[in-house]
Amino acid sequence: MVAIDELSSTGMTAQDTRLPTGDIVTGCHVLGSADHGDPVWGHISRRDPGGRGIWLKAGGRGFDEVAEDDIILIDSEGSPLAGSLSPPFEYPLHTEILRARTDVGSVVHCHPPCAIALAASGQSLHAFSNSAGMFATGVPRFERAVGLINTAELGAAVAECLGSSRALFLVGHGIVTVGSSVATAVMNAVLLERACRLQILATAAGGVAVAMQQPGRRYAHAESDAYLLRSWDYLVRQIPGRQGHDNGSRAAPSGGPSGD
Ligand SMILES: [Zn+2]
Repeated sequence: MVAIDELSSTGMTAQDTRLPTGDIVTGCHVLGSADHGDPVWGHISRRDPGGRGIWLKAGGRGFDEVAEDDIILIDSEGSPLAGSLSPPFEYPLHTEILRARTDVGSVVHCHPPCAIALAASGQSLHAFSNSAGMFATGVPRFERAVGLINTAELGAAVAECLGSSRALFLVGHGIVTVGSSVATAVMNAVLLERACRLQILATAAGGVAVAMQQPGRRYAHAESDAYLLRSWDYLVRQIPGRQGHDNGSRAAPSGGPSGD
């Protein structure tokens, strides 16, 4: 295993001047500011740009206090390649989803309260807001009565349940979201939690109207990475000490529709 600060001289190519640990740290800080901590559990992973494996959060720090030395590099079987920490128990959730989904660059697994509560209620998610539009086709539910996703078999079962979706409820546990980048995977987690919170509020106010339970394509404008990244940029600016700094979405798509 090599130290992370030695990587630039041990295989990083010219285009890899940005170590991927920085994106994960930023994503963790966004999740920490969005009430996704539990208090130290949960992780973000992303593919290594050089194809050496998967970077992911390890260790016992909360999302809001994660630093570069909490991020490790593992191979597809979970063997550590760089960093000083051991992989988290649930690394197979990440390795198996990234194995199954070649379109995915990053995986988030966390335990946000409203998503856990809504999933436990047995209700399906009704995506009746702009920020929930990307979930209009449904969020699968992984309902096997297991604790941690800590084997390759369980990780593969979660990946199969996820299918081509961008999010999944681990019922009685938490959520999984995916994206082309750390930024989009994190935004899917943030917006899924918001959608669940809105549904809990609507339910408390008398229930979701039938017309809003199946919104169809009303929010199709909210499905692009560019749409997500506008909110990502804002949330990164809200991290204490980060205003005006690189927001980590440089390599992601830009442009797209204006408006909300
Ligand atoms: Zn978990």
